[in-house]
Amino acid sequence: MDEQGAFDWTDTKWNPLRGCKAVSPGCDHCWAAAFAHRWKGVEGHAYEQGFALRLAPEKLLEPFSWTRSRTVEVAWTSDLFQERVKPEYVARVFTVMGLADWHHFRLLTKRAARMRELLGGKLARIAERAHIGLGVSVEDREHGVPRIEELRRTRAGMRFVAFEPLLEDLGRLDLRGIDWVFVAGESGPHARPMAKAWALSIRDQCAAAKVPFCFKEWGGLDRAENGRRLERRTHDARPKARALDVPPTAERRRRLQEVSAKG
Ligand code: SF4
Repeated sequence: MDEQGAFDWTDTKWNPLRGCKAVSPGCDHCWAAAFAHRWKGVEGHAYEQGFALRLAPEKLLEPFSWTRSRTVEVAWTSDLFQERVKPEYVARVFTVMGLADWHHFRLLTKRAARMRELLGGKLARIAERAHIGLGVSVEDREHGVPRIEELRRTRAGMRFVAFEPLLEDLGRLDLRGIDWVFVAGESGPHARPMAKAWALSIRDQCAAAKVPFCFKEWGGLDRAENGRRLERRTHDARPKARALDVPPTAERRRRLQEVSAKG
């Protein structure tokens, strides 16, 4: 991370699916959609089909190929809990995360109700393991804030809220059970501005609730120029993540076989 540029909250991306559909105002200028559309029709490219949902089962086992512990952002150009992703596929993704437990996984969604529903059964025992962090994006009061309650009711090893892009003042928030918060403004040519008072309100509520607070960036047209200082300083708090041991090769292979056998 640096004071001018963006905050890197994970060090690796993992895309067991691609593509998505807008669900609320926070999606209006989705960078993943813009990126995917640039490659639409380019033969052989991962986004040849544009932003249409596409499962990528060939990517499912990728975390097993990383033999050093990483912090992994899951489905970073998609949303695992969108309706058209079958529960069986969600289960496969969680099985991999459960067995590749030398990585920290971070999964963000706007479909918080479906996440809670799908993780309420057998997958709960995986979702609540400490190396798995589940988060919701919250951009406004109407669509975003209710996701926090859904997250609170979801079994998870760690819960976080990404107030990004922050589009309005959110008033009083209930942050009980939340382990980490970050705030960011929207980026790009059509970025909607974020008022300082909105971000300060969240910062102060995090301080009162003792929730680690990170200010990711102001965003805007020139992200580097706008930087990531709030009230003359950066805010980089995050929850302590336990160092994870990488199992010996034989054990990693055994787990790989186990997950492969589950199909
Ligand atoms: S949910 Fe996320 S990935 Fe999907 S359209 Fe909205 S912003 Fe883009």
